[in-house]
Amino acid sequence: STLPSSTLVRKPETVLKQVFGYSEFRDGQKAVIDAALNAQDTLVLLPTGGGKSVCYQIPALVLEGVTIVISPLISLMQDQVAQLQALGVKAAYVNNSLAREEQQRVYQQLHQGLIKLLYVAPEKVLQRDFLERLSHLKISLFAIDEAHCVSHWGHDFRPHYFRLNELKQRFAHVPMMALTATADKATRFDIVEQLKLQQPYIHTGSFDRPNIRYTIEEKFKPMVQLLRYLKEQKNQSGIIYCTSRKRVDDIAEKLADAGLNAAAYHAGMSNEQRQFVQTGFARDDIQIVVATVAFGMGINKPNVRFVLHYDIPKSIEAYYQETGRAGRDGLAAEAIMYFDPADIGRVRRFFEDIDDEQRRRVEEQRFNAMASFAEAQTCRRQILLNYFSEYQREQCGNCDICLNPPKSFDGTLVAQQALSCVYRAEQRFGLGYIVELLRGANTSRIRDNNHHQLSTYGIGKDRSSEFWLSILRQLIHQGLLSQDITQGASLRLTEAARAILKSEYALQLAEPRLQAKHVYQDKLA
Ligand code: ADP
Ligand code: ZN
Repeated sequence: STLPSSTLVRKPETVLKQVFGYSEFRDGQKAVIDAALNAQDTLVLLPTGGGKSVCYQIPALVLEGVTIVISPLISLMQDQVAQLQALGVKAAYVNNSLAREEQQRVYQQLHQGLIKLLYVAPEKVLQRDFLERLSHLKISLFAIDEAHCVSHWGHDFRPHYFRLNELKQRFAHVPMMALTATADKATRFDIVEQLKLQQPYIHTGSFDRPNIRYTIEEKFKPMVQLLRYLKEQKNQSGIIYCTSRKRVDDIAEKLADAGLNAAAYHAGMSNEQRQFVQTGFARDDIQIVVATVAFGMGINKPNVRFVLHYDIPKSIEAYYQETGRAGRDGLAAEAIMYFDPADIGRVRRFFEDIDDEQRRRVEEQRFNAMASFAEAQTCRRQILLNYFSEYQREQCGNCDICLNPPKSFDGTLVAQQALSCVYRAEQRFGLGYIVELLRGANTSRIRDNNHHQLSTYGIGKDRSSEFWLSILRQLIHQGLLSQDITQGASLRLTEAARAILKSEYALQLAEPRLQAKHVYQDKLA
């Protein structure tokens, strides 16, 4: 095909300035672009907001021919193309939602060499007639956006991505650039493998998101904790992640009842409903979205100020991606997870249903890492980045642990009070009931059991229920209490509890972290 004047070769720096209006490249961008210009395959690993798009958009504008961008989401495609067109770049998209005449118009321009960047859905690019069309074009580059979708190990596997290796087979001479914000190592290896990248140039940026403050708060009365937090946020945007659709609906409704501007989002809703919520959120018409993991890729909203986890996610990777939707504009943002150690057992039971044994083991290992992250008492960011092999020596100074270091205290007396309360109640009751007994609650259940007569009734009434819940959890954790799931989660003393009751040694416990946020906010001021 002949070369229209608009595709005259320009220097990458010139394009960066003239088209995108940026004065210099960010770390790594130039090297990736140079590799692509030299027809080398590339793998670009940058966190969300790291500046991946420019890495393929500039080669597309510098090289002859058309760059084919594979992108998994229609909304993402539309946004990107609209942005490029606004910059005067000849970009277009085709996917199966486009009207036939529209598609024909795009194809016409394509064959006339009038399009520099063509965004295509993966299912579309693999259609026989489309591949045939491609073989008549001069293709400068294949850019595979959200490339982790190719991997079974990734958090967002998509079958159509899996077949993208056919592109390398058919167009062996066309360089391919894979881009992802995935920090997970196994997934990264798999991307190279699956897409058949040939000795790729790999750029790995830092995955640190220093403006995000990580906090893990013990889950007591999560709805109360949630509302207390949200009431302070005024009109800021945020996302609340939960594991089940039912819980999403439930919480969204409660928030609405509390007068908050919140909407639900999950895969059980119709396409129109979901689109409505996503657009409303993008436009700041909706302040809070309560969602399952289905609310993910394609949320390009820069000013999300908080991401809350009502439940523990299934992997550190998922946690990182979900919290990463906060603060894309670089301004201070918060990631708070409400954590109940008992949730760990609940999630583990889900994995038992996975038939594929290897798959189950991988899921379990990933979740174990997440669980130990949640339970750890060291700098959150250090653990996160070390997990992604980005070794961190320094504590971050911007997580709950750094801002409000855990303190321990001699917990022998409170442990004895709690343990004897469990014992007096004949080891037949669960956490909530024991807390009520300790606090001397006046409930019909306690009266019916005649437990208001026990010597331990009300023995801990000067402490909050959160305090006692935290202590009981720690006693379980330390192996002094066991929880019998088959018996209504009743608490039982273990052999080891005897030594504590007899004061044979002193027991160190962590001071319960109650309303941690309020404590360290004062410190920062
Ligand atoms: P990603 O796709 O990695 O999430 P984007 O490509 O959307 O990130 O880039 C994030 C933001 O950074 C965008 O607003 C983009 O215009 C901006 N950006 C990218 N490269 C540069 C640069 N060299 N200088 C200044 N801003 C840049
Ligand atoms: Zn820290």
